[in-house]
Amino acid sequence: MTDLANQLASSSSTHSHTAESPAPPVADLRNITKSYFKPDGTVMVKALAGIDLTISKGEYLAIMGASGSGKSTLMNILGCLDRPTTGVYQLDGLNVASADDETLSKIRGEKIGFVFQAFNLIPAMTVLENIEVPLFYQEVHRHERLERSKEKLKLVGLADRMDRRPSELSGGQQQRAAIARALVTDPAIILADEPTGNLDTATGEAILQIFDEFHNRGLTIIMVTHEDNVAERCQRIVTLKDGLVESDHPVQNSKDDIDTYTTKK
Ligand code: ADP
Ligand code: MG
Repeated sequence: MTDLANQLASSSSTHSHTAESPAPPVADLRNITKSYFKPDGTVMVKALAGIDLTISKGEYLAIMGASGSGKSTLMNILGCLDRPTTGVYQLDGLNVASADDETLSKIRGEKIGFVFQAFNLIPAMTVLENIEVPLFYQEVHRHERLERSKEKLKLVGLADRMDRRPSELSGGQQQRAAIARALVTDPAIILADEPTGNLDTATGEAILQIFDEFHNRGLTIIMVTHEDNVAERCQRIVTLKDGLVESDHPVQNSKDDIDTYTTKK
């Protein structure tokens, strides 16, 4: 096996990296702060007050915390949608905190896949065209765009819906299309902000099974959730309070065992 394959194999067979030698970090945040300022330049809100967080390749991490604790602000920084006020953020070996706008958006396009609560598909485009969008921005040629988009649609079970508009799909199908769009660039991290928040329990469960499956394939997933039973499927739960990490612990009965059983059937 290659180094990476070894790391991925060990990451899916253990519940946590913290006890043994860790896989290389895909994201490393050191003393990250984020303040929002008033027009007069004084601090209005210190949304993040000094976050230290190291995320290893292949980790499946839940971010929890009360409303206003800084989850979205942290996700925006992790996803290169916004820059910290102070601190150091290394994403896949790149120093992101000091990148200019153009570099930041290029890094975002290559390294990050987003899944939102509200799906955020473009209504006027077909499902297939929606999946192609991130590749279009990377100037991938049409033939390769189509190949890669169809492949990801197949993985999420939507190959037979690719010519439909998003409005012709159920909520669960739209979220599966959004996951295919997030995956199509083969990003380093998937960031999901309450991906099951707009779905009923059964449909949400099907979406979470897709995340479990991609986690087992070695993908790094960071998910914001308010629900304990969703967080407990992850390997690690980070809880924020007042812009700080209040707790950070591995999940004991991670879903890994059940998934291993399921895939063996
Ligand atoms: P969460 O996602 O956990 O609910 P947020 O990261 O959205 O928390 O917000 C953290 C704090 O920062 C809150 O006090 C919120 O009101 C504030 N905040 C978030 N975004 C902005 C903004 N664009 N301008 C000013 N304050 C903001
Ligand atoms: Mg939020």
